Amino acid sequence: MELNGSKHFISNVRARRSHHRAGFDRRGCAAQVQADDLHCRRGNPGLNIQRKFRRWAGTVTRSRHSRWTTAFVPDSHVLGEPGEGFKTIMATINNDRVYVSSKCLGMAQELMDLVTPWVKERETFGQQLGQHQAIQFYLADCDVELNAARLLTRQAAALGDAGHPDFRIAASRAKLFSSEMLGRVADRVLQIFGGAGYMTDLPVERIYRDARAFRIGEGTSEMQRLQIARHLLAA
Ligand SMILES: Cc1cc2nc3c(=O)[nH]c(=O)nc-3n(C[C@H](O)[C@H](O)[C@H](O)COP(=O)(O)OP(=O)(O)OC[C@H]3O[C@@H](n4cnc5c(N)ncnc54)[C@H](O)[C@@H]3O)c2cc1C
Repeated sequence: MELNGSKHFISNVRARRSHHRAGFDRRGCAAQVQADDLHCRRGNPGLNIQRKFRRWAGTVTRSRHSRWTTAFVPDSHVLGEPGEGFKTIMATINNDRVYVSSKCLGMAQELMDLVTPWVKERETFGQQLGQHQAIQFYLADCDVELNAARLLTRQAAALGDAGHPDFRIAASRAKLFSSEMLGRVADRVLQIFGGAGYMTDLPVERIYRDARAFRIGEGTSEMQRLQIARHLLAA
């Protein structure tokens, strides 16, 4: 088969080092494309990594623009059945959404682990920061939301393991809530740290920036809301 098209913002593409890439054409075909077939072997221009983007955060990986121009893919590298590509990618994306939720939980937990000792150590106006009611309210909201996100993520993972048809919608719920929860937790924790939270000595500002991408990748928050609303309306 041949692949044609282009895709913005592909993470982790190291043009000369990666061995496999997946592409999906408009007809819903899926193909596993080996870099050896397309890129490393000179004279086959099928896959062209066109542009590198500079990111605001998450700079451990890179984002690039890929273009497929009549890229030949041997039958042995076609994933699943031709015409079933959309289903294949959606099955993968549900797993990815639970994975993103889990990453959000880990990052929010790290923020909580940083802030809890800080509010006991730092003193303002003659008492520990954690004794101010406004700060206690921030902490309580973070704790409740983190635990709620954990339960949604575990529920989605359990439904996925069981092959349950509600997995798709549970994964959307978990991804939506966890990614937005992380944004709120990071914002509150940075506020509790005050100026220290804004400085690069602590990982708080980095987590605050990294958190933002999770509301965009693997389906934006708006797309998760659309999925959930359609599920409700179809019932
Ligand atoms: C750090 C990072 C890494 C990424 N890595 C990858 C990757 O590895 N692979 C990959 O395939 N993609 C990757 N992406 C791309 C990502 O999946 C897309 O950016 C995302 O799906 C949104 O698409 P878009 O940027 O084209 O926004 P658009 O489609 O232009 O949408 C813009 C905004 O409008 C909203 N919107 C659009 N349509 C509607 C609607 N009907 N109703 C309501 N709101 C709507 C969207 O939710 C969004 O907020 C990455 C993005 C980022 C930021």
